[in-house]
Amino acid sequence: MGLLDNKVILITGAGNGIGRAHALACAAAGARVIVNDPEGGDTEEPAAGRVVAEIIAAGGEAAANTDSVTDPAGCARMVALAQQRWGHLDAVVNNAGILRDVTFKKMTDAQWRAVLDVHLEGTRNVTVAALPLLLDGGGALINTSSYSGLIGNFGQSNYAAAKAGIYGFSRVLALELRKKGVTVNCLAPVAKTRMTADLPMVDAEWRPEQVSPVVVFLASELGRGVTGRVWGIQGQRLHAYEMQMNDGVEKPGDEPWTAEEIAAHVGEIFSFDTSAAAPLAEGDPVTQVFAHFPAGHKPGVLPGWRATMHWVVKGATHQTVNSAGAVGAVQAGPHGDPTCTITIGADTLQAIFSGELDAQKAFMTGKASADDFGDLLKMAQAFDFGAIARAVRGDAAPAENAETVDDTPEGPREWPVGKTYSCGYAFVEPDHITAYAAATGDESVAYYGPDAIAPPMLHVRLLKPVMFALATDPELELDMLRLVHGEHEARFIKPLKPWDLVQLRGELLAVEEKSSGLLVVGGMYAIVEGEVCVECRTSFFVRGMGRKAAEARARAKSGAPRPPRKAPPTPPPADAKIDWAIDADQSYRYALASLDDNPIHTDPETARAAGLPDVILHGLCTMAMAGSTLVNVMGGAQPRALRRLGVRFSKPVHNGDTLTTHIWNDPATDGKATFAVTRGDTPVITGGVVEIGW
Ligand code: NAD
Repeated sequence: MGLLDNKVILITGAGNGIGRAHALACAAAGARVIVNDPEGGDTEEPAAGRVVAEIIAAGGEAAANTDSVTDPAGCARMVALAQQRWGHLDAVVNNAGILRDVTFKKMTDAQWRAVLDVHLEGTRNVTVAALPLLLDGGGALINTSSYSGLIGNFGQSNYAAAKAGIYGFSRVLALELRKKGVTVNCLAPVAKTRMTADLPMVDAEWRPEQVSPVVVFLASELGRGVTGRVWGIQGQRLHAYEMQMNDGVEKPGDEPWTAEEIAAHVGEIFSFDTSAAAPLAEGDPVTQVFAHFPAGHKPGVLPGWRATMHWVVKGATHQTVNSAGAVGAVQAGPHGDPTCTITIGADTLQAIFSGELDAQKAFMTGKASADDFGDLLKMAQAFDFGAIARAVRGDAAPAENAETVDDTPEGPREWPVGKTYSCGYAFVEPDHITAYAAATGDESVAYYGPDAIAPPMLHVRLLKPVMFALATDPELELDMLRLVHGEHEARFIKPLKPWDLVQLRGELLAVEEKSSGLLVVGGMYAIVEGEVCVECRTSFFVRGMGRKAAEARARAKSGAPRPPRKAPPTPPPADAKIDWAIDADQSYRYALASLDDNPIHTDPETARAAGLPDVILHGLCTMAMAGSTLVNVMGGAQPRALRRLGVRFSKPVHNGDTLTTHIWNDPATDGKATFAVTRGDTPVITGGVVEIGW
């Protein structure tokens, strides 16, 4: 007995991809299937016929129809076929689809109409034809929407309009047909099919067959009461999409809102944070925790640090902590203009201060977040959170200042390699181009005029959210205080240009456990109009993290001898050497232009507290500057010609340093070279690779 025995199901666009998977799954569950697809309809081997043959070969029942869903008469024929063959129709899956992706400015009427016709009109046409039969037996209508229509996706205004239309259509039909016993649901799948074959963000592991069990469920008796839902399906994950209304803000009296009042309340109007209202009474446990903050303040550590930190404590009283002065002053409620806003749940906060949860882990796992990384790091230095926690617990144990590493033996971990990160969009703003070029001392004229391009390394500014998403992924739990940027390699496929809207994507490529720590390798992609323009591979190293590092520490404690280190081979003499200088204010300028505001680049106090003699330059700035020197000597000073640049960061660089780029040209490989950058005899960049091409 199958879940769909005796059911008749019509599936449109079932000759390929997700529709084909639906047809096979429904037939396997016992349904008789009308496989609709016009592809190859005028050939010997139409796509629909192929799928029907597959079903029959597997012992199922199916019939093919090659009409287009855009043709109402054709839709009547598909439905009639079901009735003639099997006498009824129990479920319809509106799945047929096409894409005509292009930005709205360039979209032709034909591209707009074709997509609206197949998706929205097609869904309506099939529904009109099938409804009388669905009403007969209290059937199921399953439509196909998409992330694009529900959330939005660049270059798909036609597709998104159609898919959002299908969403609205389905919601209304669910209401109208509920009493008649017909259920109406929408799927929003993501799967690797020919529609998504070229999209790197659609994982090859997300298969059409993983979408179809939802169709089997909805078409079967198990899904009888389920209607009006939007089912997100992505690989093994099933989730919901839901349109929500918040409580909003109500202005007292009957005077309409003024535009100025609206401007002052935009944040609240769009807030879904129901806990932001109604502060709790004085003396609630969270207020008591904050009362101990002044006792844990270490004013001598960062005497010049001025910050106003708003703690948005969900489910409790919000707090303001001021770093200025001898004590870290605390007030209940939000006061003044915050330099940093920390968002945390009351439960998480209490777990931290009762010693159950490590503060850093709370930030790394997304249980707490801050909008200014610099202030967060400084706060970690200027407040003794251990002492505050002990005061909260009434425990007088002495502070532990030593850097500790958790030596609890870890079991083998499954790292989410292959996980993808979608970090929205960013414009290539002309101001950012000039600021980045100036901050890296790059005087190329290529960044100005009607054919201007962006400096190749500007991608790191744009892709910062991807880098951040990787480094702070709660599934990785990377310890930020032990994390260093190890390597960065970029392939420049097409130059970014002013006002390009860049889609920001990433992927976890590899995680390697080593005896010294954890190596995390991420892929980052800057995509413009569906085309990958810059593809890079970046790696972080987290000292002491991971099972192998814990084992190595245990071995060291047991006194076992360390294996001797191999001395690095001496490189042959370079073919060319170029000296260049880092400005005295370079790290300050680069911090602004790159958005990398980690205070070890801009705040000498923080740098010293981190054990460095002074602020250090961003590795990516050294890379960008080294890249310009290479473009100048190998690429005719044309940044457009840079195809690939890769480095390994070896040692910190300081403002005012004089550096030397050493280039080894392989005579057999034109336009390619390896390079290193040194300060005197100290290598600061090693393993450099560069490729120039036209
Ligand atoms: P696909 O291109 O593999 O399959 C679509 C099928 O629809 C093709 O066989 C095509 O011949 C058929 N079709 C096109 N025009 C038709 C018409 N006028 N009448 C009948 N059939 C027609 O694509 P897919 O990825 O399997 O997409 C299936 C559905 O899922 C589409 O509605 C699509 O918009 C939706 N969807 C897919 C994804 C994804 O990640 N693949 C994401 C969101 C939504």
